[in-house]
Amino acid sequence: MSVAAQPILLMPKLTRKNAVDAYGRRMNYLRISLTDRCNFRCVYCMPATGMVFQPRDELLSDEELLRLIRIFAKSGFTKIRLTGGEPTIRPHLVDLVRAIKSTPGIEELSMTTNGLLLSRIAYDLKAAGLDRVNLSFDTLDPDKFKLMTRGGRLDLVWQGLEAAQDAGLTPIKINAVVLRGHNEHEVVDLAALTLDRPWQMRFLEIMPMEGVGEVFDERMVTSDETKARLEHQFGALIPVSEKPGDPAVVWKIAGSQGEIGFISPVSQPFCATCNRVRLAADGKLRLCLLREDEIDLRDVMRSGADDATLQRLVLGGVWRKPWGHGIAEGDVHTGRGMSQIGG
Ligand code: SAM
Repeated sequence: MSVAAQPILLMPKLTRKNAVDAYGRRMNYLRISLTDRCNFRCVYCMPATGMVFQPRDELLSDEELLRLIRIFAKSGFTKIRLTGGEPTIRPHLVDLVRAIKSTPGIEELSMTTNGLLLSRIAYDLKAAGLDRVNLSFDTLDPDKFKLMTRGGRLDLVWQGLEAAQDAGLTPIKINAVVLRGHNEHEVVDLAALTLDRPWQMRFLEIMPMEGVGEVFDERMVTSDETKARLEHQFGALIPVSEKPGDPAVVWKIAGSQGEIGFISPVSQPFCATCNRVRLAADGKLRLCLLREDEIDLRDVMRSGADDATLQRLVLGGVWRKPWGHGIAEGDVHTGRGMSQIGG
């Protein structure tokens, strides 16, 4: 639904304990950026130069993060995804995963990673309670991969993917951002991975985040175009029934083991069913990926606030979550890049 078609605001409920916004959307999914740093520099995520990373003491410590997670869990959040930056470079990740998964109320814990370091820690992460991973890679061509990540090695990522599969961090989903002039023709090879593997290959439209506006303007490929390319190769895709809260529209190639998802924030926004907010690595609660409105939980916590005060901030923040990101209307003020907010 477009921003122009947003519904009328409901009256606030004064005694709510579960996070719900003024449009009646229930929030139960928290994406947490564990760090703003990354070991890749993907062309759709970060500018080539000029990235400034936050000093460590500005980021939430493990104790602060776990305290906030308990408060989110008390506010009705049941699903957590760890992301970044690159979550696998966060120190003590396995211990953090164990502590998060044992938080009362947290039912599902997943992670989005570029996979580079995954072969070393996949089994430990699984044993600590991580349920599954999404991996991000945009091509099967090692040279193009190096170009799109500005230096990454696909063979190591592939080892990470196999380790995740062996460790049972499944079902595995793979994210690829489709960019004209980079990988729009590679989508056929990527989709072919699902023929004999139980993976979900997801094709993403690039979003105009801070620092990559030009890439968006010059290279955005719509999901319709990608789907047409796949159908030209594989024949008509077969629809797979929708899962509530999943931003992907899911299809499959006839006879394949895996699935194909299209995530289309630009051409087919899914704001009406949004169930998520984001906690940036510096403790800012980001209400919508592409809107600047944030609530500083870190500074309030560091100034001695009790849990009840923090919970009021979380619930009040969720209440004022913007209706939609407004990309289609050209209404974009991101302020921070994807790696800083947590994709
Ligand atoms: N480093 C991890 C990774 O590569 O998966 C996690 C962080 S990354 C920001 C999370 C996801 O955001 C990746 O799947 C990436 O493809 C996606 N992403 C990054 N920038 C994007 C953009 N401008 N538009 C759409 N998706 C983007």
